[in-house]
Amino acid sequence: MTLVLRTREELRVALAGMPRPVGLVPTMGWLHAGHRALMRRARAETATVVVTIFVNPRQFNDAADYSRYPRDTSADLAICEAEGVDIVWLPDVEEVYPPGFDTLVRIGAVAAPLEGAARPGHFDGVATVVAILFALVGAERAYFGQKDAQQVMVIRRMAGDLALPTRVIPCPTVREPDGLALSSRNVHLSPEERRAAPVLHRALTAARQAWHEGEREADVLRGLVEEIIATEPSAQVEYVSCADALTLAELRRVEGPALLSLAVFLGTTRLIDNVLLGTEA
Ligand code: AMP
Repeated sequence: MTLVLRTREELRVALAGMPRPVGLVPTMGWLHAGHRALMRRARAETATVVVTIFVNPRQFNDAADYSRYPRDTSADLAICEAEGVDIVWLPDVEEVYPPGFDTLVRIGAVAAPLEGAARPGHFDGVATVVAILFALVGAERAYFGQKDAQQVMVIRRMAGDLALPTRVIPCPTVREPDGLALSSRNVHLSPEERRAAPVLHRALTAARQAWHEGEREADVLRGLVEEIIATEPSAQVEYVSCADALTLAELRRVEGPALLSLAVFLGTTRLIDNVLLGTEA
């Protein structure tokens, strides 16, 4: 039986009686197979699995994006139940940010480029809410998707710098059979945009193949991604990056582990994806 809790106090009381270690899976709901993979990993590695479902207003830099973010609590709870989740925390905005709340967790260099540059304030919102969740749940381990690669780096930095005891575990991106990374935002794609959407992964894998074949010029790899995306007229590139996998500094040549990442609009829907070069992941 999954316990569904809404207040900080209910969560604190329930956790006090639960076996350790605790695994945390923070989500914004509209759960899909990507979230399920995180829950399964947590289920396999920890004694108590806590999923949080909270569409965090502070990480949306665009009010329209926040209000149209998809929500379906009963479907989400059925998924958590099916995955054997012990506790779902489903707080109101005021439960996470009580009256008078006035603190912001801001991460430096690793939060600056890419998503940080394209979505001002986004990572402040992410880091702040994840710091609250880490404090409330006190989990030994927390599971995040590599689909949001920069988010994993930002949260790792935060947990390390603030000496938070929760270990950050990155998990592989789950994809549709045609390569499209699962995302709650995919629901907004029109049939034509959905048909075009696998071009993101096609472009990234073509560049990774070129890298495997010896291409080391970052501009060539970025150019290859852009060229393939351009074959779909409905796709508008926001950025294509080939960056150092540890610092996210843009590269001239790929000499060590690199993150090849992109943000692309299909109509009004913004999708992100990435692949790693030169690492096992
Ligand atoms: P969200 O609900 O979009 O905030 O995502 C919650 C968690 O699920 C984050 O750690 C995401 O990185 C992760 N996630 C989202 N989509 C995927 C996916 N396709 N594969 C793996 N993890 C994912």
